[in-house]
Amino acid sequence: MVVKITHEQNICIGCGACAAITPEHWVMVDTETGEFKAHLENSNKDTATNIETKTVDDSQFQGNKDAEESCPVNCIHVVKE
Ligand code: SF4
Repeated sequence: MVVKITHEQNICIGCGACAAITPEHWVMVDTETGEFKAHLENSNKDTATNIETKTVDDSQFQGNKDAEESCPVNCIHVVKE
């Protein structure tokens, strides 16, 4: 089973919760627009929508699920496929 992670970066308010909880996957960055937002490490980013996606194995599910649950604006989605 694989785990798909999606991050809607446009919605991110830059609170830093995800990066504090799961720093091996989430970091805080200055974006092209000068805003401070989360970035999903080693992800693919659709530059039209600013949506980042990444597929990981099961062993990385829980850490990212914890990040998802910490997000106050629900812009992280972690789904087993
Ligand atoms: S927890 Fe959500 S809103 Fe906060 S920095 Fe991470 S992705 Fe952005």
